[in-house]
Amino acid sequence: MSTQATEVTLADARRSCYCGDVRENHIGQRVVLKGWVHRRRDLGGIVFIDLRDRAGIVQLRFDPDLISADGAAHALRSEFCIAVRGEVTRRPEGTENANIDSGTVEVVVAEIDVLSRSNPLPFQIDERDNTSEEIRLRHRFLDLRREEMQYNMRVRHQVYHATRTFLADEGFWEFETPILTKATPEGARDFLVPSRLEPGNFYALPQSPQLFKQLLMISGYDRYFQIARCFRDEDLRANRQPEFTQIDLEMAFVTMDDVIEVCERLIAHIWKTCLGIDVPTPMPRMSYHEAMAKYGSDKPDLRFGMEITDLTDALRQGCNFQVFNNIIKKKGLVRALCFEGGGEKLSNTDLRPESKFSKQVNRETGIRAYAWFKVDENGALSSNISKFFEEDALARIKEQTGAKPGDVIFMVAGTDTRAVADQTGRLRLLLGREFDLIDKSLWKFCWIMDFPSFEWNTEEKRWDPLHHPFTAFYDEDMEKLGTEQQGEMRSKAYDLALNGEELGGGSIRIHRNDVQEKVFAAIGITPEEAKEKFSFLLDALQFGAPPHGGLAFGLDRIVMLLTGEESIRGVIPFPKTQAGTCPLTNAPGPVSDEQLKELSIRAIVKKKEDAPAEA
Ligand code: ASP
Repeated sequence: MSTQATEVTLADARRSCYCGDVRENHIGQRVVLKGWVHRRRDLGGIVFIDLRDRAGIVQLRFDPDLISADGAAHALRSEFCIAVRGEVTRRPEGTENANIDSGTVEVVVAEIDVLSRSNPLPFQIDERDNTSEEIRLRHRFLDLRREEMQYNMRVRHQVYHATRTFLADEGFWEFETPILTKATPEGARDFLVPSRLEPGNFYALPQSPQLFKQLLMISGYDRYFQIARCFRDEDLRANRQPEFTQIDLEMAFVTMDDVIEVCERLIAHIWKTCLGIDVPTPMPRMSYHEAMAKYGSDKPDLRFGMEITDLTDALRQGCNFQVFNNIIKKKGLVRALCFEGGGEKLSNTDLRPESKFSKQVNRETGIRAYAWFKVDENGALSSNISKFFEEDALARIKEQTGAKPGDVIFMVAGTDTRAVADQTGRLRLLLGREFDLIDKSLWKFCWIMDFPSFEWNTEEKRWDPLHHPFTAFYDEDMEKLGTEQQGEMRSKAYDLALNGEELGGGSIRIHRNDVQEKVFAAIGITPEEAKEKFSFLLDALQFGAPPHGGLAFGLDRIVMLLTGEESIRGVIPFPKTQAGTCPLTNAPGPVSDEQLKELSIRAIVKKKEDAPAEA
């Protein structure tokens, strides 16, 4: 056999390093680089190219005497994929670029090969323009070439890596649990997959690996984790995706404190790895009731104050404002916020119901009308409704809200106590955001504890679990299960909130079969239904199930916060739009009649004109 050496072409030559990694220590070396033409500057004789790969950018220089006169450099266009061979040199003084890491050097090109040409681009890669998200998602393969996206994907990778190394070092084993499975109730609708082999039967895609991780505890695997894809068919709210990723973990023989302690260290490790930031532990904790009362949210943004005060009691006397009186009589609430120095920022006109500000409040918080007071320089409360309040009532409002001259007090009232708490919380956030009260440099973590176990579903007239039905509760609350006091039961559940977002949550689980059966009954699941849906769990709970608990973090949301992105779509490589579609692949799409037939499925699709008209 002949062993004749063949010359390696530039296209096949191994690259010396990433473009973005070329540095001064390469000066004098001949390097092979491969990447994409980011930008071209044609200065007549000399052509400069910024060559880009996932590590960053390096400048190439094409001198007229070094590169052949075939015009290769002049013919290069944005996003051509090229290979070059050349020598790394120091940039002439005064031409350095401090904005890029390789900015003190450049590569003088001796040889170039165009590996692949590019069509004209639907949008520029090298600058943030106003291209719609739809267009960017349709060409996501190009959008992912942008620098912000490279950064986001790098951080995402670091989060995976940090999670795996940390948890493995802590003795957690990584598992994969089934994607084609049965429903796990996490409060959303299931995505279903028809079975071909069992016509009429369906798999459900997992809303979470909840039951499998519990089974693994029962099987004795003690510490489990998974970076798990979860699927929830919800009406898509602003920052949700039908499929998303969780850092899911479970431990046996633990208390809430044990789970929280490991999770805090995991989060601190991720923040240190990705941002170099030391997150102090232990993290603060707050009860659900305190969070709802003070911040109107179970994921409070603690980067600014403006705590909510309850004025219901303070207004039982001395208030002749009928709107409030009626609400208080019907066991409703009056909640208030004090906007420090707000008097300068909001004029009386701004506070009128038809103002731009009030309309925004209505749109974003659902508050139909709010009452307000301004505190004048003498400390007196003034407003269009102050005449309805007696002196002592005004004094209590001022005292309880802690209002000082120059402040504005907002008051929100209603009979739906949950809605009032929620709306006041939203108003707090709106004021914080619109008037720049939030210190964006802060990371304010907080555990929310002692959630009610169940909440009354007024529409369906039944109790729903606030987390999922496998959540344990305080032993002393057990006797309330199945009684009218069920709503007072507190779960052994915990959520981690950060800067107004929920990072994740979990709980200690029910590990006794009889208790689990009682909980199913208490939320209206009949024994037959429980058997049909969860017999495997109820079964397993009868074979020496250890006490266990765990948690899941939303990985996409963690990456979103770490990168400062506003949406989780910005940190998922191939996300869906808000309408749940993928403009890149056009999913979901039609399938052939043949495929449907194989699955024993018939699609009944209403034609547009048959659909009921919008009310
Ligand atoms: N399975 C839960 C969820 O997805 C997390 C947990 O309880 O561990 O929210």
